[in-house]
Amino acid sequence: MGMEQQSCSSEEMGVCKRLPLMFILQFLVVSLCVKYSHACGTSSSSGDLLLCRSCGHEIALESNANFVHSRLALSHRNDTVVGEKRVSVQLFENPQGYQFEVITFKTADVRKHWPAEKHFTWFPGYSWTIATCPRCRAHLGWAFQPSDWPSTISTEQFDDSQQTFVALIIQRLLREHFASSLLVTPKAFRS
Ligand SMILES: [Zn+2]
Repeated sequence: MGMEQQSCSSEEMGVCKRLPLMFILQFLVVSLCVKYSHACGTSSSSGDLLLCRSCGHEIALESNANFVHSRLALSHRNDTVVGEKRVSVQLFENPQGYQFEVITFKTADVRKHWPAEKHFTWFPGYSWTIATCPRCRAHLGWAFQPSDWPSTISTEQFDDSQQTFVALIIQRLLREHFASSLLVTPKAFRS
């Protein structure tokens, strides 16, 4: 993009050409503020909160990331893609050929869609359900439970067990700190 420096001193136009951009920026900041109202201000103390990228719902704590190794992963790396902490990211491919980079968590606030499926699992010994955002229903990943369990269990059974976990797609999450950083007042508004 040719960022032509528009001269704001020219009076003929009456309005500086850069003003519309500033209004758009301001609008964006305000919209984000409304959307992520809980992220505004300085009250947030949990620095490692991960949000649904689609709607801002609080999904998981970065500190709840819990690596579950899978020999079926195409690759494995440590990264800080989501936050400051290095977490283990595994790359998987589904039978349709779509690839997903996921992080495994002990728990997450996601809706599971039982009955669980034993076939095409990425974690041998575990069956899976789709996991969606409880607010906007965006597909966020998959929930895993031991494959010798009944295919349909209660949310409480899932949440209370140490043997269950959730794999979330990193590109569908947003770190709360990052959301907050988008709310910083553009330099143009500071005096
Ligand atoms: Zn959502």
